[in-house]
Amino acid sequence: MCPSNTDANTTVGARTTVRAASVADFAKAGVADIVSFGQQSRAHLLHTGNKRYPWNDIERPSKIFNYLTINTDMGLLEKLKLRIQALLTWLFIRVLKRSKLEGTEELTLLNEPVKIYTFRKSSDIYAQATPFGTIIWNKTRTEELSTEGQRFVLHHELSHKNRNGIYKGLLYGMAVSGAGGIVILMYSGIFFLLGSSFAELAEPVTTGFLMTVAFAALFRIEETWADYDAVCELGEEKFKSAYDEIGSDHEPTMRSRIIRKLFYTHPDRTVRLYQFLQEKESISVT
Ligand SMILES: [Zn+2]
Repeated sequence: MCPSNTDANTTVGARTTVRAASVADFAKAGVADIVSFGQQSRAHLLHTGNKRYPWNDIERPSKIFNYLTINTDMGLLEKLKLRIQALLTWLFIRVLKRSKLEGTEELTLLNEPVKIYTFRKSSDIYAQATPFGTIIWNKTRTEELSTEGQRFVLHHELSHKNRNGIYKGLLYGMAVSGAGGIVILMYSGIFFLLGSSFAELAEPVTTGFLMTVAFAALFRIEETWADYDAVCELGEEKFKSAYDEIGSDHEPTMRSRIIRKLFYTHPDRTVRLYQFLQEKESISVT
């Protein structure tokens, strides 16, 4: 995760304090919100009907709810689901992207409007499908893109979002396993430095390696799948030019380059896969 520009000059100690403070603030804000939510928001939501409310102070989680389109005829479970989704997305941006949720928008780039949760950050990420069925959208980066580039990003993320539940479950399960594999490999490294022999470490290293590689392989399949869906929607030429645009608009960090190499399939290969499958399909139809 790239640190934001603002804290680039602060010392490690200061940064730790800032983080600890924001966690404490969050916990405080969370408790205060749960208490006040029951008293205020219930009455508020009952009267707001279909309206949307802009908010200025995004620090308080309950403000997120003001941005949701809550219809009075929605079932209780539906409303609850929307609120939980919004809260988890807020948390996702806050903790994993170290940024603030800006608001929600309906993008009209595709045939159907797509709801996105916006934030700003000068990092390599354009957008991401969260595990909570929402899409987060980095305005700092996406505003630099052409409409076609934005369409590509949106198609790619929608593909992740709409992936079938069983496969998604498998992917997230494997993510936990992959993280476990990395921990096992790290411990094996420590034991090796402490004097353990290759023979003693062969089993944990093999297990850790397989757990990590299995996740990396599945992740790569998932990314190729999302790109493949984007080619199907955009066509080969627009897909390639959008990919070029994303690859060339700024200098990617070393970390992003490694991640790209390991987890993403080259666009030309995805296009070849697309052509191959199209050919197969046309043969089976005729
Ligand atoms: Zn992706």
